[in-house]
Amino acid sequence: MSVAAMPLKGIPRIEGFPYMYETHCHSSEASACARNTAVEMAKAHKEAGYAGFILTNHNWGGNTAISRELAWGDMLDAFFEPYYLAKEWGDANDFQVFPGYEAGYKGTEFLIYGIEIEWMHKHPELRDAPVKDQYEIIHSGGGIVVHAHPFREAFYISRIRLYPEYIDAVEGINAAHCPHLGGEDNSEFNEKALKYAAKLGMFITGGSDAHNVDLFGGGMAFSERLRDIGDFTDAVVSGRDYRVTDGLHIYDQRGGLI
Ligand SMILES: [Zn+2]
Ligand SMILES: [Zn+2]
Repeated sequence: MSVAAMPLKGIPRIEGFPYMYETHCHSSEASACARNTAVEMAKAHKEAGYAGFILTNHNWGGNTAISRELAWGDMLDAFFEPYYLAKEWGDANDFQVFPGYEAGYKGTEFLIYGIEIEWMHKHPELRDAPVKDQYEIIHSGGGIVVHAHPFREAFYISRIRLYPEYIDAVEGINAAHCPHLGGEDNSEFNEKALKYAAKLGMFITGGSDAHNVDLFGGGMAFSERLRDIGDFTDAVVSGRDYRVTDGLHIYDQRGGLI
């Protein structure tokens, strides 16, 4: 099913899955490439009809706006400050805000979901962990690792590197690859990611990689409101029934076009 004539600032209404979440978005306080603050992003998503979002700013290995000179604890405080600001706004405005981050390794990126910020404070070894160690550390904290846009080709990605043994799921749909807002049509990156997930037998996630309030309308839709970020990671690991969208097309949790 494709949703024609969708207003670009809105989100597709998916029957049976009324709770839509953005799973990949950035804010200017912590991501150098983002243009709006976390609260501005939360307001825009709420207005577009999302039930919530996971704020996934670029970490110390990626395009962070936070000084890498800071001590671990100070860096985390600065890094997650926008999350707390957005959450405060969200709590007062019926909009769920969950923490996460996007980890960068020389351009290869992973979305990290499901670990607690307090827990991270006790695990400074995350700072210099290579991809394999990252997977083990994140798992020991109850989180998951998702390969973000594995087939994106861009100036900051020197080459495509795949780590099938160190991920839990594949970001099959990254709405920023779609030409909805008049940008370049890179949807083949998504097609390759969907094939990759299918080959691995992994479930997919989907998000917009939003860097400003001009939203693409991508995300993941659930039949019930998510209880917390652990509810989200459970759904992705178990493939609980959910839908994924790039803002126009709708897919099931295995990446099948509906
Ligand atoms: Zn970015
Ligand atoms: Zn991103």
